[in-house]
Amino acid sequence: MEEFIIVHLDMDSFYASVEIRNNPNLAGLPVVIGADPMLGKGRGVVSTCSYEARAYGLHSGMPISRAYQLCPQAVFIPPSMDIYAQVSARIMSIVQNIAGEIEQVSIDEAYLDLTSCVTYEQAAHVATTIKQAIRQQEGLTCSVGIAPSRIYAKMASELHKPDGMTIVSPADLLPFLIHLPAGAIPGIGKKSELALTDAGIHTIGDIATTNIQVLQDIFGSHAVRLYQIARGLDREGLRNSGKRKSISREHTFLEDTSDPDTILCSMQTMIYSLQGELEERNIYSRTIGIRIRYPGFITRTKSVTFMQPTRDIRIIEKAVYGLFTDMWDTKPVRLIGVRCFGLVYPDPVQRTLFDFKQSEIS
Ligand SMILES: [Mg+2]
Repeated sequence: MEEFIIVHLDMDSFYASVEIRNNPNLAGLPVVIGADPMLGKGRGVVSTCSYEARAYGLHSGMPISRAYQLCPQAVFIPPSMDIYAQVSARIMSIVQNIAGEIEQVSIDEAYLDLTSCVTYEQAAHVATTIKQAIRQQEGLTCSVGIAPSRIYAKMASELHKPDGMTIVSPADLLPFLIHLPAGAIPGIGKKSELALTDAGIHTIGDIATTNIQVLQDIFGSHAVRLYQIARGLDREGLRNSGKRKSISREHTFLEDTSDPDTILCSMQTMIYSLQGELEERNIYSRTIGIRIRYPGFITRTKSVTFMQPTRDIRIIEKAVYGLFTDMWDTKPVRLIGVRCFGLVYPDPVQRTLFDFKQSEIS
């Protein structure tokens, strides 16, 4: 079996950190990026908050009215997605210059494949170089996890935030997993965690030693993968090895939501992030699609193909919102995703072909 060395890199409280960097007067204060709290009557949610705000119990996804109740003295700032997307594109190119191919999964997160480093010591050295470069060039910190599979790398990066680095070599994997709470596995939400608790399962070690039938009753067909993960057997590298045919972003809501503002806000983040990547890699997208997942893993997808490949933010926004309006039946949404496919890598000589004003969506 090939042993990957995978790194998960996650910027620390990204939007809040960018705002604080751009306005040093905010340093040390509880800073909340999100909807207008309107003195506690605001709708919408917290998208990111500084660690000082987290000390008051605030967290991403929390209703903004609740955040205001808990910490009215916080500095509330509306998100500037265009600025965050620019910073993100610069960070991703720093990472790419050092690590080679990366798999960007959100505006502030990426997976790197450092298998070619051979040892974890070498991989940690590369990760340190990346952390220093981001700090020097952008004045921002990130946390990294290094492990033999992407899911373990993600769990590791969560462990020592902010500015952390957690290394979990194959030999360290079982001791690392065994005492973590079951909910530390990405994808296990609050409801699943409750069901596990009811079955007497609290830690990942408990999952690993339980009868798989118990897991099958709770997770159905996902039980086998979960069992593998808990037993330290999962091995998955980057999902974009080889020529990329599409780029995508997705977001799982902490709680299923039927609030259109929350869903649209999340889609806007993804659109900016995708557009930034198209810009950064100098590619255009022929087709845009969206994916909506409802509770119970019911997933619907729909896409639209443009007259000409594009990366014009207005065209992409119009297309995505159009698809969403067509598809969404106001039922609660668990996950939303946006994908660009039919990627076009223009020959530099033919660049002008794509510079025509593009306004039509077929
Ligand atoms: Mg982050």
